[in-house]
Amino acid sequence: MKAILVREFGGPEVLKLEEVPTPKPTAGQVVVRIHAAGVNPYDTYMRAGTYAVKPPLPYTPGSDGAGIVEAVGEGVQKVKPGDRVYTAKTVTGAYAECTLALEEQVHSLPKKINFGQGAGVWVPYGTAYHALHHSAQARASETVLVHGASGGVGTAALQMGCTMGLSVLGTASTQKGLELARREGARRVFDHSKAGYQEEILKATSGRGVDIILEMLANVNLAHDLKLLAPRGRVIVIGNRGEVTINPRELMGRHASIRAFTLWGITPTEEAEIHAGLIAGLANGTLRPVVGKEVPLAEASRAHKEILEPGAAGKIVLIP
Ligand code: NAP
Repeated sequence: MKAILVREFGGPEVLKLEEVPTPKPTAGQVVVRIHAAGVNPYDTYMRAGTYAVKPPLPYTPGSDGAGIVEAVGEGVQKVKPGDRVYTAKTVTGAYAECTLALEEQVHSLPKKINFGQGAGVWVPYGTAYHALHHSAQARASETVLVHGASGGVGTAALQMGCTMGLSVLGTASTQKGLELARREGARRVFDHSKAGYQEEILKATSGRGVDIILEMLANVNLAHDLKLLAPRGRVIVIGNRGEVTINPRELMGRHASIRAFTLWGITPTEEAEIHAGLIAGLANGTLRPVVGKEVPLAEASRAHKEILEPGAAGKIVLIP
């Protein structure tokens, strides 16, 4: 089968399409024929060799795939050949025609979700779920600012926030991204590339501030985020690409807090809860992953360049 292999850490050009053996499942394992694989920003950090998790070389990237179960190993109960599934992590990588996964890494993909959308489930929706439910402990009627609402995590958080009864605000930097954020549930949208947009956000809350901020670029925004918080407000740091200086006094007066996590570090109980919540939402139509761009698997390097450029509009997925 064909798969993307990374033989050395480096720029997008190290992603090469190669011929590799098709995996065979042993006990407790599942082989999935991949119809689409999700591209996430962390895939690019890992490929560059700068991420906390550094896989042994060579490796095939990708935790998020969607497709059809091709074969199962001894003792597998959860799925059978022919089942539609999405993956949440894999053993051999999702940027491939087939991937090998543990039984617990594959999850039923509801009928109304196509494979491209299925490739946009785990990291984006898992992150949005953990941020809103576990980390922020959001309660209906609270106001949430999705700071970076046009990308994978952002669009997921907008849809989820709406279903939770939150009042949702979103930011993006292009007309397309702003329209997408509005369509996916933001009551008001703001252009984070425009000077002074934070004042508009405060005005939109009549000066009170927001209860929750889901932050996609903390190194740029965190210091100012603290000034946008309502009393008892929480900033949830999801994305960060550098250092930042903050004034803790902005937190003290508000009894506010900064919380942060990585999806890698959640507990098995939290993960089980996330999949149950996501599958219910995907099945009842309240969660609808937005695919902005489909790229052939052979052009994975282009997808890695584009995901780091401004102008996000939903997910980028690779098609084998
Ligand atoms: P994505 O699809 O590439 O989207 C990136 C988002 O960030 C877009 O909405 C983009 O908006 C926005 N953005 C760009 N500049 C911004 C700024 N100055 N202020 C606020 N937002 C800005 O990426 P994603 O999958 O949604 O992930 C978002 C971030 O979270 C990434 O850094 C990723 O690594 C991180 N992440 C972390 C975890 C975790 O476990 N903690 C999990 C998933 C993702 P425009 O393009 O419209 O400017």
